[in-house]
Amino acid sequence: MSLNRELADCFEQIADLLELTEANSFRVSAHRRAARVIADSTEDFAALAEDKKSLMAIEGIGQKVADKIVEYVHTEKIAERETLLEEVPSGLLDVLKIPGVGPKTVRLLWQDRGVTCLADLEQAIEDDTITDLPRMGAKTVENMRKAIRFASKETERIPLGVAASIADVLVERFEKMKAVKRVVCAGSLRRGKETIGDLDLLIATKAPDEVSETFRTMPEVEEVLAAGATKSSVRLLADVDGRKRRMQVDLRVIEEASFGAALMYFTGSKQHNVRLRERAQKQKLTLNEYGLFPEDGEGAAPQKRGVKPVAAKSEEEIYAALELPYIAPELREDRGEFDLSAAPRLVEVQHIKSELHAHTTASDGRLSIEELAREAKARGFHTIAVTDHSKSQTIAGGLSPEALRKHIAAIRRANETVEGIAILAGSEVDILPDGSLDYDDDLLAELDVVVASPHWSLKQDAAKATPRLIRAIEHPLVNVIGHPTGRLINRREGLTPDIREVIAAAKEHDTALEINAHWMRLDLRDIHVRAAVEAGAFIAIDCDVHSASDFENIRFGVATARRGWLPKDRCVNTWTAAKLAKWLKKNRS
Ligand SMILES: [Zn+2]
Ligand SMILES: [Zn+2]
Repeated sequence: MSLNRELADCFEQIADLLELTEANSFRVSAHRRAARVIADSTEDFAALAEDKKSLMAIEGIGQKVADKIVEYVHTEKIAERETLLEEVPSGLLDVLKIPGVGPKTVRLLWQDRGVTCLADLEQAIEDDTITDLPRMGAKTVENMRKAIRFASKETERIPLGVAASIADVLVERFEKMKAVKRVVCAGSLRRGKETIGDLDLLIATKAPDEVSETFRTMPEVEEVLAAGATKSSVRLLADVDGRKRRMQVDLRVIEEASFGAALMYFTGSKQHNVRLRERAQKQKLTLNEYGLFPEDGEGAAPQKRGVKPVAAKSEEEIYAALELPYIAPELREDRGEFDLSAAPRLVEVQHIKSELHAHTTASDGRLSIEELAREAKARGFHTIAVTDHSKSQTIAGGLSPEALRKHIAAIRRANETVEGIAILAGSEVDILPDGSLDYDDDLLAELDVVVASPHWSLKQDAAKATPRLIRAIEHPLVNVIGHPTGRLINRREGLTPDIREVIAAAKEHDTALEINAHWMRLDLRDIHVRAAVEAGAFIAIDCDVHSASDFENIRFGVATARRGWLPKDRCVNTWTAAKLAKWLKKNRS
């Protein structure tokens, strides 16, 4: 009778899969009912399948279900199930088994947050990136967390935004200590990498014992891994936005006189430091974490032999002594920075004067148009674009064409009432799988700005993804391509188009490519930005604002831009209001 069990499971699974694809609810319940009938029956369905009529005589078994039973008995497969499994990641069926997590929620997690299996969900809970979804209060998430047995995640690299929150707390704490002269978090965090291993905290002080003791007894310390005179290591269990995070932090206590050398050494990258030391050698100098010293042929550790350094106090003077321009931390990856004859004028956070990608309560944002505008104005912006979701984004409250027309009118009114900032009417319009857009052109033409973004069909291969993105780029009314690949860091690869072709099209059609500043996305990524800079395309750095705090993510977007060597003037958000408005007009009459 185990065939009955198999059949029942099969129909139950088809029902789940149908539900995850938002199929007609009658189809879903027909399969559920069949599963229940089969599971509850004492009849042998293998035998019943010999005669379809006897199957259909059973209440709850219609003709289509009967066909599938016959199919399974003969082939051990149901074609419909195979097709659905191609469409829906099978790991979602595990997610669906978590108590209290219904198909609507799972679909939302999948489509909106890229969750495709239990491991993904654990990560999303860790990252606290799901509590802003509907029906996903802190309590629900806590219950989910309990339901999933946590595997140890301590070895995984932590997203930049999370590591930065922890670092901010530490830096602020030690800055308040009287004995402390300087505090910097070095390492890959300072270089703005998208994920971080450990934190490297450097502190200049004349009271190393006091500082080290304070460090090792911080309330977040879960375990002291090392405790030396100038170096300590701890593992923290820190609270980030209400979530517990484990992270290793190494402290180095340094004398102020050699702070620059230590900062350079512990900022890295390894490859950059190797090149620096080679360069020093060629100039008959020795570079280490204590300074740049004359090579006296007496062996290592010149600082211990009282040799006076050529430079040590600041990074600037060390680079100068090595006959290099100052190289910003984000550039220190041995990606050509040693060929620079002058420091490039890279974009900085304070250069950003507009936000071109923001959602309001009209779709899935938390701010009204006016609140959004005031937040932007308070940050010194001259322009904010309201770009709510388009009609296909039903989960995110995408606007129907009629709703968008009303929304445009509301935005125009708000633009009259809120002074000191231009509020633009826009849309984050979906790029459909074939590259067409989710609204008609005459509606798009009524807008001031169009951000076109891919949100689904993100597993397309390059042969489809490249023309898809290029078609949107070529559209005369599109100004910005939002999060062009749709990737989610550590969780979803997203589209993998031929990025050079995409960039060439963007350059040709005067369409900007976005760096989505959310630390979960950072899309475009640094190497894509670099290619865009080399091709001469424009970049928009946008926070994809859903709530006021999202504006704070700009620093991660700017860090990514700088890692891609983006000069200020190639970033459209740094332009004056007039220059930006002129560019946005594009082919609008
Ligand atoms: Zn989007
Ligand atoms: Zn958005």
